[in-house]
Amino acid sequence: MCGRHAKLKIYLCDLVYDTIMTNYVVPLNVAYIGACVKEKYPGQTDIKIFKYPKQLEEALRNSPPDILGLSHYSWNARLDVLFLKMAKRLSPDMVTVMGGPHIRTDADGIKSYLTTNPDLDYYIPYEGEEPFSEIVGEILGGRTTEKPPRGCVRIVDGELVFEPVLFNKKSKIIDLPSPYLSGLLDPFLADSKMIPLLETNRGCPFGCVYCTWGIAALSKVRQRNIDVVYEEIDYVAEKSAGQVNWIFCDANFGILPRDLDIARKIRKVIDKRGYPVNVTLWHSKNTSKRNVEIVKVIGAKAGSIAIQSTDPVVLENCGRGNIKIDELRKHIAYYKGNNLEVTTDILIGLPGEDAESHLRTLNEAFDIGFDQIYPYNIRMLPGSKYETQEYRQKYGVKAKYRPIFGAYGTYDGEIVLEVEESVRATNSMMEEQLDGFKVLHWLIYFCWNAGVFKPILRYAQKYELNPATILHTVSSSKNCLLRELFNDMRSRSMSEWFQSPDEMLGFYQMKGNYEKLVNSFVKLNQLYIAIVYQEPEIVQNLQDAITEVIGAELKAKGLYDEAIMELVVDFSSKLVCKDFLQKEFCLRSKYPGKLCSVVFNDAELLNKETVEAEFSFPKEFVTFCEFHLKPNGKKDISLSNLTRFLEIGGMDMLTNRVQVVSN
Ligand code: SF4
Repeated sequence: MCGRHAKLKIYLCDLVYDTIMTNYVVPLNVAYIGACVKEKYPGQTDIKIFKYPKQLEEALRNSPPDILGLSHYSWNARLDVLFLKMAKRLSPDMVTVMGGPHIRTDADGIKSYLTTNPDLDYYIPYEGEEPFSEIVGEILGGRTTEKPPRGCVRIVDGELVFEPVLFNKKSKIIDLPSPYLSGLLDPFLADSKMIPLLETNRGCPFGCVYCTWGIAALSKVRQRNIDVVYEEIDYVAEKSAGQVNWIFCDANFGILPRDLDIARKIRKVIDKRGYPVNVTLWHSKNTSKRNVEIVKVIGAKAGSIAIQSTDPVVLENCGRGNIKIDELRKHIAYYKGNNLEVTTDILIGLPGEDAESHLRTLNEAFDIGFDQIYPYNIRMLPGSKYETQEYRQKYGVKAKYRPIFGAYGTYDGEIVLEVEESVRATNSMMEEQLDGFKVLHWLIYFCWNAGVFKPILRYAQKYELNPATILHTVSSSKNCLLRELFNDMRSRSMSEWFQSPDEMLGFYQMKGNYEKLVNSFVKLNQLYIAIVYQEPEIVQNLQDAITEVIGAELKAKGLYDEAIMELVVDFSSKLVCKDFLQKEFCLRSKYPGKLCSVVFNDAELLNKETVEAEFSFPKEFVTFCEFHLKPNGKKDISLSNLTRFLEIGGMDMLTNRVQVVSN
C-alpha cells in the first residue's frame, strides 16, 4: 500500500489499439481476476479496468496504481511492453504483472521473456485468478519474500523461479466469482462498441499444435457453475447496450450435454429482448447431433466445423488425429438434413501439408458440402508447439512478418505496432507455392463465400465439377484484365511480408511509412473486392471466365445445355449487386424448378415446373450503404472508403437478396 492510498490501487488492463475504432470484446479475462481479488480482500482494494490505451496512459500519469496487470496476446504484446516501461518510469515501486498465452511456456522461453523485459516483475502463464490474488495478498500483508506465489514466474538472482498450479488436477467445477455479477464489467457492457463475451467452460482436449488453447497444461475441460452462467446471461442482457453480437468463448461449445440447456437459455433472452442477433460459438468437434440442436435452438442459419486439412497425415502432425474426416462428413450431412448451412476454416502451411494436399483439401471441402470455406495463414503463436524451435526445425518452417491489421498507434509519444509472424514456407511447401494460392483463396472468398457467383458454381457442382478446380483454372486465366488483377494481387500479397520483426519495425519507423500504414493498410481480400467493384468490367470478365471453364467441362462430358446455362447466368446477374448506392427494389422472375433446386440447394423444388424467385435490395441495405458511402450526403466510393465499408459489414451487400416466392 506504500502509505499512499487507503486501499491498494490495482489497474487491470486488456488493451486493444484504438487507432481504428471497431468492435471490441469486453475485458472478461482481467475482470475474472478483479472479481476474485474483490471477493478475497473485501474493501481493501480499488480496482480499475482498462481497455483503451489512451485512458490508461492518462491514468498512469495522473494517478499511478500500486499494481499494474496486463493481459498478453499477439494483438497487444508490444503495447504492453510500452506501458510497462512507462509505468516503471513514472512509478518505480509499482508492481507489474503480465499474464496470458503469448509466451513460450518452457523454462528458457519464460526466462528469456522476463530477462528481455526488465520492467516486468511477474508473469502468470496460465489461469490468472489465484496467482494474481496471491500477489495482492502478499502486498496487502506487507510480505516481501522474493519467491513468487504459486502460478507466478519471477527472476530471482538471475534464476527463474516458478511453481506451477496444476490446473488439470483441479476439480472439474470452476468455483470462481463471476466477473459480470461483481459489476466490474458494467461500464463495458454499456459501451455499444464492446461485444459481450461469455464463458461456460475452460480447457480444450484436442491439442492442435498451432494453438495455445489446447496446450497440455490446460487440456482438461472444467465447467463453470451453471446457475452462475444463467445469471450472467440475464445480467448481460439487462446491462448491455443491446449489442447484437455476443460471443461464447468456450473452445468447444456443445462438448457437454448441459450446453443445450445453455442454448435454450440464450433463446429465451433473444425471444424476450430481440437481441443478441448473432451468437458466435466454436462448436465441439465430435458432437454433431447436439451441435445441430444448439444451432437450431439459437436460431442461427449456420454451424461451423473447422477442418483445417483433410489429409490424415497432416491432421496427425497437427495433433488433430482424433478428428476423423469421415465422422465430420456425417456431422455435415446431419446439418444439411436440418436445412442448416455449414462453414469451415482451412489453414495453409500446416506441418507436412504440400501444395497438392492443400488443393485436395479445398476440393474436398466443396465435396463435403461446406457453404462457406475460409482459408487462413497460420500465425506462429508463442506457447504453441508449432512455434517451438523443435517444430520449426522438424518441419522446416520459414516464417515472415507483417503488421497486424489495426494494431498500431501512438502512445506515450511513441509509435507502437504489433507484429504478426506467419508461416510462409515449410519443408513440404515452398513460399512460391504458398503464395500461389492467394488468388484461389480470394476467388473462393469472393465468388463462393460472398455468394457472388455461387449459383453458377452450384450448377457446376450438380455435374460433379468442383468449384475449387474451376476457380483454380480461372486463377490462371489468360484474360488481360483478370491476369493484371491476379498478378497485382500476388505481388501485393508478397510485398506485405518482412524477413524479421526488426526489418518491419524499422520500415514503419521511417518518415511517411507509418502514416501510410495508418491511412491505407487494409485487408487484401476486401481491397481487391473494392477494386473489382470500381471496375464493373472485371466482374463481367470474371463471370465470363467462370462460365467458359464450366461450359468447356460440360461440353467435354456431353452435358452442356446452352438454354439452361443462359438462365443460370441470368439468375446470377440478377443476384450480383452492381451498384451499392442503388435504390430499394424488388423484382420477380420465373425459372425452371430443376434450376432453382440447384441454386437454392433445395431438393423440394426439383419437381416443380417453374419457381418464382424474388430479388430485392431491402431498405436496411440502402440505409447502411448510404450511411457509409455517402457520408454527409456526398458520394465517396474511393478505394479506401469502399474497402472500409466492406470490412465493417458491406460484404453482405455484395449480393441482392433472393428468395423463393411461396405460392
Ligand atoms: S484449435 Fe480449437 S480444437 Fe484445436 S486446440 Fe485450439 S481450441 Fe482446441
